[in-house]
Amino acid sequence: MSTTRLALLASAVLVLAACSSGADAPSSRDSARILAADTEPGSWPTHGRTYSEQRYSPLTQIDSTSVGRLGLAWSYELKTGRGQQATPLVVDGVMYVTSAWSLVYALDAATGAERWVFDPKVDRAVGAKACCDVVNRGVAFWEGKVFVGAIDGRLFALDAASGKMLWETVTVDQSKPYTITGAPRAANGLVYIGNGGAELGVRGYVSAYDANTGTLVWRFYTVPGDPAKGPDQAASDPIMAKASATWNGQWWAIGGGGTVWDAIVYDPDFKQLIVGVGNGSPWNQQHRSPGGGDNLFLASIVALDAATGAYRWHYQTTPGETWDYTATQPIILADLQIDGKTRKVAMQAPKNGFFYVVDRENGRLISAKPFVPMSQALDTPQGTPISWAYAIDPVTGRPLENPEARYRGKPALVRPGPSGAHNWHPMSYSPQTGLVYLPAQDMAFGYAHDAANEIRDGFDNIGLVIDPLPDDEAVRAAIRSASKGMLLAWDPVAQREVWRSDRRGPVNGGTLVTAGGLVFQGTGDGQFLALDAKTGKMVWSADNQAATLAGPITYSIAGAQYVAVTAGYGGAFFLIDSFLGPAEGNPLNGRVYVFKLGGTAAKPVINFRKTPVPRPPAITVSAGEYIRGAQLYERNCTVCHGVAALSGGVLPDLRRSILIQDAVAFRRVVVDGERAPLGMPRFGKYVSAADAELIRAYVARQAKTAYDAERQMNAAATK
Ligand code: CA
Repeated sequence: MSTTRLALLASAVLVLAACSSGADAPSSRDSARILAADTEPGSWPTHGRTYSEQRYSPLTQIDSTSVGRLGLAWSYELKTGRGQQATPLVVDGVMYVTSAWSLVYALDAATGAERWVFDPKVDRAVGAKACCDVVNRGVAFWEGKVFVGAIDGRLFALDAASGKMLWETVTVDQSKPYTITGAPRAANGLVYIGNGGAELGVRGYVSAYDANTGTLVWRFYTVPGDPAKGPDQAASDPIMAKASATWNGQWWAIGGGGTVWDAIVYDPDFKQLIVGVGNGSPWNQQHRSPGGGDNLFLASIVALDAATGAYRWHYQTTPGETWDYTATQPIILADLQIDGKTRKVAMQAPKNGFFYVVDRENGRLISAKPFVPMSQALDTPQGTPISWAYAIDPVTGRPLENPEARYRGKPALVRPGPSGAHNWHPMSYSPQTGLVYLPAQDMAFGYAHDAANEIRDGFDNIGLVIDPLPDDEAVRAAIRSASKGMLLAWDPVAQREVWRSDRRGPVNGGTLVTAGGLVFQGTGDGQFLALDAKTGKMVWSADNQAATLAGPITYSIAGAQYVAVTAGYGGAFFLIDSFLGPAEGNPLNGRVYVFKLGGTAAKPVINFRKTPVPRPPAITVSAGEYIRGAQLYERNCTVCHGVAALSGGVLPDLRRSILIQDAVAFRRVVVDGERAPLGMPRFGKYVSAADAELIRAYVARQAKTAYDAERQMNAAATK
């Protein structure tokens, strides 16, 4: 063999090696690698691509001129249904993605070939603790390890190459209704994780674990505990006196809330962890902290020393939180030019409807403006929702509230509602356009004080009376049409909307923005879209055949740019609302969809089937008993089986269930807990056999309406 041929062969091997490893990767997989993420734009090594969590990619192969050639490269069927909310990571050509029930998948990022799957084998009964479905929003990657938090509160370290478990640790008191749905983050040898559960009643915190051993390094409680129990021996101890001075009564009785269930951002500029803190337990402050108070650190952005967990600063978005206004929504770090100066900022659009820009050196508010309509109560037309606040005082940083919205004395129809003006769906920021791409929603909710406030172990304890949906179809349609979703392009410096793109229905997927000048976003009705980042004009779409709400990502391998997103029905919206859901009785497994220029993979074939509503049983109840049945249904069943028994199609549609045919069978499941191992809780402690029969009568009436409608439609079709 000639030396020339040898040299050619050697260079070919080098080229092949570069191709197989994806982007040119530095050898050390540590904070330095993520800090230098822009030197390997082909990877997506942490939740928001870089520690700034901007979800902005420098890749440009797919741009407004080439996007028309974008086609399916591959798809992968996840092994579970339910909501899919994960942002995948891509490191060294391998995609790490999670599904509902906390499963982790390692896939070849170029082909979708399965490398390994890790199933933490969560007891399905744990599903009853999840307020908003058994979802998972992704993994963290650190030095050859993959970390995932399971819905039952365990944190796992897996070998990235084999999927073998390296360690596991229980991060919560599993006798309490804690859950984990958020993605861990990793930096400087620590793995950070929070938890959820504030609807049922828990005390929130965030923890740091040693990435190599799983040993707890520090924990910061976001709300004070029972003073009688003394200090927690936690990183939060020194600040807890200041926090507890803002509470009243026996706030610790059901935990106080303040869970850190999503935003956890490592800020390398100040070596701090910036976390978003959730709502109170219960929601209703009149029960949680009678007489008011700010209730620190509920609904706050809190900065902690990343190494020790020591308190640095906080900014509270909703003092005296009483509407489920979490500040857990995704936080983006950026350097913005404001009044001629470079400001290091944190940006958040929490549930409460204001867009906040905060100085991350000290937590001071730079600016805040509403991104959904907000007005003073006196300017609000009679019968329409009032805003909880109408402005943020720029000097004090505190909201200017409409006092009526606190539903003291009488109920109030308030916007936003508990779903928020923005929820977990990730927003993105492009340094190129200077715009934030924010999936927003405009929804209202009727808040009514529940004087009785019976605390029920293992169920939602929010301190509100919630009225059942009226039977009148016109009223239902009016409520539905008042809920809107839209993608907003938001200028965070000028604090104003630059363009918007309206969506069908309120749910509205996470966003990705690229240097190719494109914004990618999925929709509740199964579309996956590309829009021009400057104008909002739609330039491409694909049919993902299921709700596509998770954060999309982009990466490149061997010179080809890919765009990936997970899709699947489920999550809070699809459990309670039948509007955009799949055909009834069609629980579908989730999927990963991956696109590239010239992709020609066939779209997976999904056989939707519609099960007819069987003839419902005739159950005679009085008008009063029917209303009582509706109230019992609303209180006990809605969060999983859908408002007014109109299932979102993910969990069993009770109108189609064989169980409603038989009083004894129904009672065995509802009261005696016959299906508890499958995740249907035993209600016997709170629902009597007589109550169960009223619920059955209510469901049977809803089934009759659906049954008659189907018969009419079939009759019309055969005419
Ligand atoms: Ca909540």
